[in-house]
Amino acid sequence: MNDTSNNSPLTIDIDLDADGIHFGNLKVPQSTNSAGWAQYYIPIVVIKNGNGPTAFLSGGNHGDEYEGQVALMNLARSIDIENVRGRIILIPMLNKPAAIAGTRLSPIDGKNMNRAFPGSADDDITGQIAHYVAHNIIPLADLVVDIHSGGSSMHFLPSVNMHELADKEQMRSMLEAGQAAGAPYVFLYADVAGSGLLPSYAEGLGKITLGTEMGSKSQFGKETLATTRDCIHNLLVWVGILDEPSITLSNEPPVVVKGTDTRDYVMAPCSGILEPFVELGDTVTAGEVIAQIHNPEDISAAATEVRVETDGMIMCRRSNPLTSQGEVVVTLVREVQE
Ligand SMILES: [Zn+2]
Repeated sequence: MNDTSNNSPLTIDIDLDADGIHFGNLKVPQSTNSAGWAQYYIPIVVIKNGNGPTAFLSGGNHGDEYEGQVALMNLARSIDIENVRGRIILIPMLNKPAAIAGTRLSPIDGKNMNRAFPGSADDDITGQIAHYVAHNIIPLADLVVDIHSGGSSMHFLPSVNMHELADKEQMRSMLEAGQAAGAPYVFLYADVAGSGLLPSYAEGLGKITLGTEMGSKSQFGKETLATTRDCIHNLLVWVGILDEPSITLSNEPPVVVKGTDTRDYVMAPCSGILEPFVELGDTVTAGEVIAQIHNPEDISAAATEVRVETDGMIMCRRSNPLTSQGEVVVTLVREVQE
């Protein structure tokens, strides 16, 4: 099948409307040093059983975040289609070049998939993939879940996250979905590092849109993978696609937290070697020193203190000690009283 809608150069080799479980590829035209005529394959799976809602689930938007990639590959291979009502479209490695290189950004064009939306037909590969997904996949979905974690640079408390939207009804549904997922935290976040996010695009189409931050590359393991798997399961139950019982992740209900003051995103005042004084879940107050940065070129000089400007709980912290000026050190959140 050759899908040329929206002038996208990408093609897809499965029918998204066909019942059953179908593994296929999005194919991006390439001309490389090793092959003048080539296509880059991005795996895509559709699981469909009759009429019902559509969910679009993506992993590997950032290549070094593997929780979603593993969870979605496992889901595609293990789901019992008899329990499906409607359709699930999975792209486990949205930025596959980055996923197999172990990098956040694409090694082909250096682009960040989560800043590339909605892309364009004549963009570099990252923007071409974003453009196809923006115009041919996301519009089909009732529920969009883009699965992230801290990757190589950040540790996170496991959360389902979302923007705070002006549309009250959409926000209410997203909060309901976020709590139904069952992760320990529902994190309302702000954008402090650019635009062009997949979730922002999907929200703009009115979709129930969730992200996640499930841990990090070094927290990756049995526990974070189980949380990711169970949250996806619960969201498919919530949206009415999966006719199975939901899974209780914890006896405590999810805590809704908010870090939407730009000062909650504490950036490094200088470059150097970061020494954190706080851990995930710690509570801090404005003015508190939460880390210091050592100057490897002048070790006799006092380390530079990093202070927070807001009160809150440490939702995430930098995991890589090597830090450049302006990179985020911690993010603070406060519980939302409903
Ligand atoms: Zn990410």
